[in-house]
Amino acid sequence: MTSAVHHPPEEYLLSYAAGGLSEGEAVLVATHAALCRSCRKRVGELEAMAGALLSALPAAPVSPGLLQSTLARLDAEPRPTPKTPPPPPVEDALLPRPLLRYTGPSDRIPWKKALSGVWVYELPVAVEGVPVRLRRFAKGVHIPPHTHGGAELELVLSGGAKDDRDGRLYERGDVAYNDENDVHSVTIEDDEPCIALGVHVARLKPRGLWSRLVFGYLGW
Ligand SMILES: [Zn+2]
Repeated sequence: MTSAVHHPPEEYLLSYAAGGLSEGEAVLVATHAALCRSCRKRVGELEAMAGALLSALPAAPVSPGLLQSTLARLDAEPRPTPKTPPPPPVEDALLPRPLLRYTGPSDRIPWKKALSGVWVYELPVAVEGVPVRLRRFAKGVHIPPHTHGGAELELVLSGGAKDDRDGRLYERGDVAYNDENDVHSVTIEDDEPCIALGVHVARLKPRGLWSRLVFGYLGW
């Protein structure tokens, strides 16, 4: 068990607790929570709060037609495609269980070389068409200044990566959030390779009736 220093933004924990994240986003939050005691506790609290709100909702004033219009919008949204059944879970020193079901054992990941010192494995799940991916960086690799095509969450699973803007170090369990407003370079620490899970995230838009009601109730 690690104790993470950098966590996903609170709204992702809330949306996860309310069942409002896409599958790819939920993989990252669940994997972080498996490594982070405080976020695991927070998700439990948020789940309890969402459940309490939900049970209180029938007594709350609701404008006529809100439920019907919400349900109509949900009906118009594309349904998620059925998932293939996950393989039986096994223990893995590197990959927490929520991630393992998508990758298989860490020593059998079919890495593909992307650049000098960088390998990639795309998980069989995507967010808005962008695959969720694991990346492995060789020791000491320097990732030159770059921006992002949208909001991204990056969860470090091994080794360390330093954001050169502020010298912040991200290690096992830590999550970095960057979007198109961020320009930065990253240096991989030189003591061991770094493996990270990267998820392109949608602008947070609660999915599903329960999640929408909870977010609406909170005024988010
Ligand atoms: Zn955390």
